[in-house]
Formats: sequence, C-alpha cells, structure tokens
Amino acid sequence: MPTYEYECQSCEIVFERFQSMSAAPIRKCPECGAKVKRLIGAGAGILFKGSGFYQTDYRSASYKTDANKDKQSKAAKDTGTKSETSSSKKSESKSAATAEK
Ligand SMILES: [Zn+2]
Repeated sequence: MPTYEYECQSCEIVFERFQSMSAAPIRKCPECGAKVKRLIGAGAGILFKGSGFYQTDYRSASYKTDANKDKQSKAAKDTGTKSETSSSKKSESKSAATAEK
C-alpha cells in the first residue's frame, strides 16, 4: 500500500496516510479541519530522495574505504601467514629430502 503525504494548507502540518490506490484522498486536516493537499513525488519527494542519495553515497564511500583498509590489512596478514607456512613447509620438505639423500 502506498503512503501518501498530505500537507495542511492552513496549519501546514504534514502527515502520512497508508491508503490503497483506490481510496479517496484525505481532504481535511486532522488537526484543524482545513483543506489539505496531497504531496505527490514532485517537490518534496525529489528533494528528500536527493539528500538521501547524497548521504548514502557519502556514507558508502567512507565505508568502502574502511572496508578496503580492512581487506588490505587482512590480505596482507593472510598472505604473510600463507607464505610463511608454505616456505616453512618447503624448507621442511627440502631438508627432509636432503636428509634422505
Ligand atoms: Zn491543519
């Protein structure tokens, strides 16, 4: 069910109503009983979306940077451990091979 936003033309409160598409639009302000107008997408909606986008982008950018830092340090640790392990294994097998010969 879509949410409709209404703004009172008299006291200027903005309120939301869950309504089915076919439901009759609200005409009266619940506070003062004056005429209300439905806010559809256009002005307020786009403005809200725009600022939301900006905030999301900003946050995700810093989040990505942090995540990358984590990844890099993790990867460095991982490769460090791996190469250590493999090199020690190699030297072990080498020394073992040498001992066998
Ligand atoms: Zn009102």
